[in-house]
Amino acid sequence: EQLSSTEIQSIISNFDLHGRPGRIYPTGSGLINDTYRIENLSSGYPDYLLQRINHRIFKNVQALMENIAEVTFHLRKKLKDRQVEGVENKVLTLVPSKNGLYYCKDEFGNYWRMYLFIPDTRSYDLVETEQQAFEGGRAFGSFQSMLSDLDVSRISDSIPDFHNIEKRLKDLDLALLSDPAGRKKEVEEEIRFIDLRREIMCSILELGRKGRLPLRIIHSDTKFNNVLLDKNDHVQCVIDLDTVMPGFVAYDFGDAIRTIINTAAEDEKDAAKIQLNIPLFSAYASGYFLETKDFLTAEEVHSLMKGVILMPYMQAVRFLTDYVQGDIYYKTSFTGHNLQRTRAQITLVKRLEENRADLEKIITGEALKQNPSLLVNAQ
Ligand code: ATP
Ligand code: MG
Ligand code: MG
Repeated sequence: EQLSSTEIQSIISNFDLHGRPGRIYPTGSGLINDTYRIENLSSGYPDYLLQRINHRIFKNVQALMENIAEVTFHLRKKLKDRQVEGVENKVLTLVPSKNGLYYCKDEFGNYWRMYLFIPDTRSYDLVETEQQAFEGGRAFGSFQSMLSDLDVSRISDSIPDFHNIEKRLKDLDLALLSDPAGRKKEVEEEIRFIDLRREIMCSILELGRKGRLPLRIIHSDTKFNNVLLDKNDHVQCVIDLDTVMPGFVAYDFGDAIRTIINTAAEDEKDAAKIQLNIPLFSAYASGYFLETKDFLTAEEVHSLMKGVILMPYMQAVRFLTDYVQGDIYYKTSFTGHNLQRTRAQITLVKRLEENRADLEKIITGEALKQNPSLLVNAQ
């Protein structure tokens, strides 16, 4: 539901704004939060960006906002230390609320936060060129890199078990056990596909438990439209920090690749259309290693391909769970939409498996191009 201008005015009055607020209008194509741009009528002062935080998905708003504060402060310090120009437009800047926090709660129980609006940028929903893929790799690579020396214990899980494939599989098992929508019999083939790969898909978690993969601070929503580009289509700023949390670098890499490498939509019906776009994959990897070469371990480089296969598999498990549960989590446009999504992600996993050796060669090649000693620096 849209809020009236008076309602928004009263929310704005909780924040420490400079200048005189003018027009307020919805902006962006985000699916999770409600986002408004607030014009500033005083010249020399920035516009603002107001967001209502999706409290249904993010249960612990305080922890989430503490994460964002930690991360943006660290990024800002890094950029300043490097004497980068225009820092205020290269990292999100939270506007303090008058209650001493970085968010406020309205009379309806909604949570709100405010950022400085970053002007003269654009973002794209889909990666279409190698140049864009390269910039995407650079964006999320440098994000991980700059956060690699921030203490992971300062960051909490904004969504518990978000990347935990063991938990996701357990949820699927529970759904199948109760079979509330009577759909189990329709999905036997999909279950077989998933079951055959259970153990191998848990290998990143396993390597983490053995201490062979370090827990890092990752973005966890590495879609291309979460990167703001400048007028030359170069990375300017990584946005949408709600899901920043501890995790393994392969999760961010794999989730970015999941959409970039797929020639079709996430829910494509025609399996034949689901093919791999290898040039975009290479370009993303190239940009990624340019920025991460100094901190990634050899084991992490080797884990990236595992992440590339895991992320569409995990998405298939989540879509299938929702289908079996009767479509209660994801918005669907028709009956069977979640099953179609499941099948599309399964097809993508198959293609990735078929091309695994070639993709691995590209990863290794791009990694070595950026740092010839990268693959021997294991801890
Ligand atoms: P998603 O569906 O990706 O989770 P979301 O609902 O969490 O999105 P954001 O990605 O944070 O929302 O923001 C929505 C849109 O608003 C962005 O795609 C971008 O176009 C714009 N935007 C967000 N923050 C800023 C900013 N500080 N300056 C300028 N534009 C911004
Ligand atoms: Mg977003
Ligand atoms: Mg978001």
